[in-house]
Amino acid sequence: MCTVLHNGRFFRPATLNSQEPDFADCLVIDERSGEIKHIGSAEDAVAREAKAAGAKLQDMDGRVVVPGFIDGHMHLLLTGEALNQLDVGPFKNLEEIRNGIREYAQENPNLPRVLCRGWLQASTGGVALASDLNDLDPRPIFINAEDMHSAWVNTAALDEMGVADMEDPPGGEIHRDENGVATGLLSESAAIGIVWPFLSGVSSMEDRVRYIKDAFDAYTSSGYTGLVELAMDQVSWDALQLFRSRQPGGTLPISLATHWLVLPRNTEEETLKQVDRAIELHKRFNATDTPDCRIAGIKVLCDGVVDSCTAALREPYSHNNGNGNPIWSREQLAPVLRRADGAGLQCALHAIGDAAIKIAIDCLEQVGNPAGRHRIEHLETCTPEDAKRLGPLGITASVQPVHSDPAILGEWPKLLGPTRCKHVFPYGELAKGGAVLAIGTDSPTAPYGPLPNLYMATTRRSAREPERRDQTTPQFALSLAAAVSAATQGAAYSCFADGWTGTLEAGKAANLTVIDMKWDAEKLLEANVRETWFRGRRIYAAE
Ligand SMILES: [Zn+2]
Repeated sequence: MCTVLHNGRFFRPATLNSQEPDFADCLVIDERSGEIKHIGSAEDAVAREAKAAGAKLQDMDGRVVVPGFIDGHMHLLLTGEALNQLDVGPFKNLEEIRNGIREYAQENPNLPRVLCRGWLQASTGGVALASDLNDLDPRPIFINAEDMHSAWVNTAALDEMGVADMEDPPGGEIHRDENGVATGLLSESAAIGIVWPFLSGVSSMEDRVRYIKDAFDAYTSSGYTGLVELAMDQVSWDALQLFRSRQPGGTLPISLATHWLVLPRNTEEETLKQVDRAIELHKRFNATDTPDCRIAGIKVLCDGVVDSCTAALREPYSHNNGNGNPIWSREQLAPVLRRADGAGLQCALHAIGDAAIKIAIDCLEQVGNPAGRHRIEHLETCTPEDAKRLGPLGITASVQPVHSDPAILGEWPKLLGPTRCKHVFPYGELAKGGAVLAIGTDSPTAPYGPLPNLYMATTRRSAREPERRDQTTPQFALSLAAAVSAATQGAAYSCFADGWTGTLEAGKAANLTVIDMKWDAEKLLEANVRETWFRGRRIYAAE
């Protein structure tokens, strides 16, 4: 039996980076296989025969239908956790943050901890002191930075994590005062390697399964049919498997490909052990055996982020003469990438500062496997010379337009100076150099909605504060067609899923996002996702 969707505008790009879209008006789904049987006109023979044979008909009311969105870079458990935390992002300064937390703590007397997210460093001038939180509530208070690369906590939280006796982990800092007492800020691998695992560890398995469910629900109702998860660890993986085992048919609601997080350890042997764990899991969880839930590769962090001055730059930051240190040396990184590549795993390298980006490209060039679809995440301050290198080396440019929102870049002119600010988030240039762009959101470091993300990619204006008129490097804007392709076909390519999804073509899975929208980038913030279809089944419909 077939379903015929007619009177729609089914997106059909000519090529991956095409500027002009093409639309078909009818799509035929084969219900048994869940695949697209035909895309074209309602007058085509396949559509007429299907109708004559009693196919179900659905009038799409002229709505735009794109291939199901795939978030090319996101964090599953952290997104689910964030959905259950207080968002301090809207608070503009320390006083508002304090008032917000106090109120939230009073309203939630039964929570064992007060968990917050969304702290923008600029809102407190970069200051993050336990002493500014201690009087608010006796319970441990944790505030994740919006970018998730640092955490601000109170003394009860420092105590329960036991950081007093800890050394700084490689690539991270437990900030301390002149007497060596931790002051409340943990950055980079101190946040990622101490705070994240601590919080994941103190939640119960059932909590984590519920967070994962919340994240999947949020994603399916936002129009997504696929996720690329970018920092998997054992705690998240165990919860994911329990969640998965409870799903109908024992498979995830939408497909997920994940990268195992590999952190630098004190010895090469210890570091490589993490890669071996990913390889071992990949043997069981791969595209052939478990297409819904698979290990795609490894993830390494080459540096931090601009706002905490931990992104590694070639020239010093403009305000303090520091450069930010690369987290891995080339010598440390090389064996990690070689081992993963040799086992058929993809390497995903977080690199934001231009020095880290150069290291990432150089190291992948050395690996020398352009067919391996290795990827660099973020590329925020990529230089013009390096932007040209990704395409020829087969490196996917994994970018998150929501991070380029002018509303969160207020400190950048001070930190980077005006010259470097003219060349940030160079999406158009990366594409011109032949790199495949994969668009993602990096949720929960930014909102996961696909349409504000496309708005940022195309207009370069703020989705957070739409009344603002300023733009981030408008010369690198993508056309709406190219941005939609990067959020579907490009994201599918980025995880080797383009053989079965990412475009509306006969033989591919009927993964669809139905959007009430005008085909106009300026109008994207008024657009609404109405339906999500996964493998030929409608899994979400707006009220
Ligand atoms: Zn990320």
